[in-house]
This record gives sequence, structure tokens and C-alpha cells, in this order.
Amino acid sequence: MKKTRTRFAPSPTGYMHIGNLRTALFEYLIAKHDDGDFLLRIEDTDQERQVEGAVEIIYDTLKTCGLNWDEGPDIGGDFGPYIQSERLPMYKGYAEKLIELGGAHYCFCKEEDLEKQRAEQGDSFKFDDPCKYLYQDEIQAKLDAGEPYVIRQTIPEHVMTSYEDQVYGTIDVDADDLDEQVLLKSDGYPTYNFANVIDDHQMEISHVVRGNEYLSSTPKYNMLYDAYGWERPTYVHVPPVMKDEKHKLSKRNGDASFQDLVAKGYLPEAIINYIALLGWSPETDEEIYSLDELVKIFDIHRISKRPAIFDIEKLTWMNGVY
Ligand code: GLU
Repeated sequence: MKKTRTRFAPSPTGYMHIGNLRTALFEYLIAKHDDGDFLLRIEDTDQERQVEGAVEIIYDTLKTCGLNWDEGPDIGGDFGPYIQSERLPMYKGYAEKLIELGGAHYCFCKEEDLEKQRAEQGDSFKFDDPCKYLYQDEIQAKLDAGEPYVIRQTIPEHVMTSYEDQVYGTIDVDADDLDEQVLLKSDGYPTYNFANVIDDHQMEISHVVRGNEYLSSTPKYNMLYDAYGWERPTYVHVPPVMKDEKHKLSKRNGDASFQDLVAKGYLPEAIINYIALLGWSPETDEEIYSLDELVKIFDIHRISKRPAIFDIEKLTWMNGVY
């Protein structure tokens, strides 16, 4: 059987809040429960959205909580995280390979071409790429002439695509509702979605654990796996942690930041214990668990579909027990 391997793959676009940390914790628990590996990968291909210092905060938070990752580039006797911006040249080769396999195509359209279709189609805009219909010699001529291009995913028409999510069950999506996303940008850099799939495959990730906002775009990821002939990972989409009934915790607003909680005197062990029970329930009513105990009892099938609300009073109570 395939070894269980998970990864926490944050984009360094803000600070670590309790919801981000809970995703990392679930990934860690899933891997360790099966004696598997837990990895850290920084998804920083979108350089413009980065927040200075965010990588260090992610790094320190995981270390402080004992969520140590099992491999990565050597940084003076310790494992560093994998960093996508240090792996850039590799993705272009994969994108070109995907064209050969029929899962992607060159697109030479300009922003005006997209705008024109957007104006014609209105709210239900979905780009119908004329470049999909170019002949091979036309494509070659454009490449030879040095025309700028992006590489877009080619989505098959009129098919239903489905997958089993470990928390949400069967997800069926009509492929006609999926857009032919850009995989490689005109500067040769991968988009975030593309780099994510290539890395998950390369790093032999068995379980992809992430926020449920990815539930409906996952079929696009699956189509990439299928086009390459790679085995799809198991998906575990988790509901968000909410600030209140209506609002999700937000990295940008600095909500429920781990650093702030620690500065206010909350112990990392208590925070970990508290967030393990945020949207996941053990079989007993016992509430106090160490990380090792959580590793032993963690079971994906007891993750709830319902959004969890961050309750500072409960955390304060738990902190008092430690
Ligand atoms: N980089 C993504 C994020 O921070 C995570 C995507 C994933 O885990 O697949 O939202």
C-alpha cells in the first residue's frame, strides 16, 4: 500500500490563524496516525500577494506546536520547507509535456480578446479559446515568431466528472462549468494551481487536506492527474473556521492569529488541543489530549462538514487546565 504522505501548503499571504493551523494539524495527524510523512511546502509563485515575514511565522508556528515536518532541503542540519519559487524551471517542462498529452494548449490571445468575449457574454463569462482550434503549423509559426503565449488547460467538453471527498462524499461537476485555466503564465512561471498539482505528484502526496473552497475546482486538478496518467490523491476538504456565524477567519485581518494568542499567554499545547476538537470529534467525551494521543486516535471520518466557530472562552478554559 502507498505510504501516507501529507503536506501543509500555505501561500504566504498573511499570518497564521487558527484555521490555517488546524489544517496543518489535521495533515500532521493523518500522516502520523499511519506512520507516514508530513511535509511543508510554501506556495509562493504569486510573488505579488506575499506578505513579508509570513514564511518565518509559518515556520515558527509549526515548530512551536511540535508539528515537525519530515523532509525538505537541508538548511544547516535541519530540514527547510520546500519552496515553490525555488523550483520554477521544472514546471515549464511539465506544462509542455501536458500539451503533447492533449491536456493543455498554447494560447496566444491578448487581454483585448478576453475582454471582447467578457463584454459579449456578460456575467456567465467563460473564455472560449480560439487557439484551441489552431493547426500545428500555425502554432509553430507563432512560436517561431516569438509571439507571447500562455499555456491553458484543455477541458474536455460535455462530460461529468466526479470524485470522492473524505468529508463531503461524492462531488459531481459538469466539465462544461470549468474554465480552461492558465497553467503557465507568459513569463514562464506556473500559476498557483498548476504548481500545486505538479508538486503533489512529485512529492508523492497521498492525502490532500485543504479548505473546502477548493471542493469545486478540484475536478480541474483531477483532470491534470488524469491527463498525465498519474494516480489522483485522496481529498480531505475541511470546512472553514469562522469568527462568528457569518464570517470566516481571515489572514488579512489578522483574526485569531496564533502569535497573538501565544503573546496573550495561551500555551501552544492548549491551542493544539483546542483546535483538534474544532470540527473533529473523538469517540469519547474526553477533551484533554496531548499531540501524541491525538496522533493515536485521529480518524478522518470524524471530521465534520459543518463550519466550526472559534470560541475564545472555550480556549481560555482549556488553557486553564494545562
Ligand atoms: N496554497 C493554498 C492556500 O494557502 C493551499 C492549497 C492546497 O493545500 O492545496 O490556500
